[in-house]
Amino acid sequence: MKSNKFYIIVVFFALSLCSIVAQTSKSKYLLVISYDGFRWDYPEKVETPTFDSVQANGARVMQCQPCFPSKTFPNHYSMATGLYPDNHGIVLNSFYSKELKAEYRISNRKAVTDGRFYGGEPIWVAAEKQGVKSATLFWVGCEAEIKGVRPSYYYKYSSRLKYNNRLDTLKKWINLPYTERPKLIMMYFEQPDKYGHQYGPNSNEVKKQISYIDSFTKKVFQTISNSSIADSIDIIITSDHGMSELNIKRIVNIADYVKLKDVKSWYGNNPVFMFTAKKNREEKLYQQLLTIPHSTTWKKDSIPNRLNFGKNSCIGQFVVVADSSWSIYIKNVGYIGGTHGYDNSNKDMQAIFYAIGPSFKKGITVNKMRNIDMYPLLAKILNLKIDKIDGDISPLIPLIKE
Ligand code: AMP
Ligand code: ZN
Ligand code: ZN
Repeated sequence: MKSNKFYIIVVFFALSLCSIVAQTSKSKYLLVISYDGFRWDYPEKVETPTFDSVQANGARVMQCQPCFPSKTFPNHYSMATGLYPDNHGIVLNSFYSKELKAEYRISNRKAVTDGRFYGGEPIWVAAEKQGVKSATLFWVGCEAEIKGVRPSYYYKYSSRLKYNNRLDTLKKWINLPYTERPKLIMMYFEQPDKYGHQYGPNSNEVKKQISYIDSFTKKVFQTISNSSIADSIDIIITSDHGMSELNIKRIVNIADYVKLKDVKSWYGNNPVFMFTAKKNREEKLYQQLLTIPHSTTWKKDSIPNRLNFGKNSCIGQFVVVADSSWSIYIKNVGYIGGTHGYDNSNKDMQAIFYAIGPSFKKGITVNKMRNIDMYPLLAKILNLKIDKIDGDISPLIPLIKE
């Protein structure tokens, strides 16, 4: 009897091991890394052996176009949802929602973690709903419950968390037991955006930061190659926007042209703002905004179609954006080295996109994509069904192995 029981246990163990092996060999993992403000041409500024090797052994899209406005929150959430900011609702880093009667600000923990602000279906939500575990480290929106769902693993945002600690988190996730291991991992890093703002995109500080990021990325690859999923993980390295060089000779104070007493509310920072006028002062404010030099002002409903911006109810009555490399400000000039937020066709605003792994061809380069086109690619790799979105996988098809 005893030996029979032992036999059954061994057979059961062998069978479950077979099924785990079968699942493991079929399973695909996906890691998406975003280095904030990594302009499309930064890898050409210094030696970047890791990025070069990803390009040689994988795929690169030379310019990944952000959505307008080319700011961090709208764009990370566009990458996560495949939707224009107009359609997902995070229209700027700060805004007012009339429907929710609440303000959204990236520094406001209550707002950032409030799922009601976030439209669309982030890829981690699509994954979790379809039984695919996800893990996110600081990706915009990942701390909020969206459509009733949160990633299986996520952390409270802390810009102070050291990159090596973030790497330890990745190591922990990819080495979890099979049934607990996330298949989708999304990670966010603040640099080189921070130094781009402080010192400008052409500074030595940014160059050093690019070298550092390149060597950090090498450590990411080493960590993965020491794990059991080394051969079954695709890795995408991208960014939300680029960076434009500023100059103290190219600064305009909006308050020199606009009477702030006519303004009910304004949101934004250099170089893009949204304004709403006090009652019956719309036309007056509009005429004043039009006089701000080195900038363009649109009424919300007459923003050019190519910017796909102006329908969402969280957008102010008027949108003002500075000309390339010009600074506009209210009260506080902010960073003087560099900034972003300009027209998304501005070359300086374009970001990086690299991809390597079993799904991707070796040594293939494509010229352009929009960052919203990444979403259907992520869904394809993870075999997820997705809703109708604004992005389109077509520009990325040449990168993918049949
Ligand atoms: P921007 O003004 O567009 O350059 O915004 C960049 C800032 O967004 C960075 O300094 C980050 O600290 C902040 N940030 C990025 N992701 C998050 C997040 N998930 N939660 C809170 N703040 C974030
Ligand atoms: Zn950013
Ligand atoms: Zn920034």
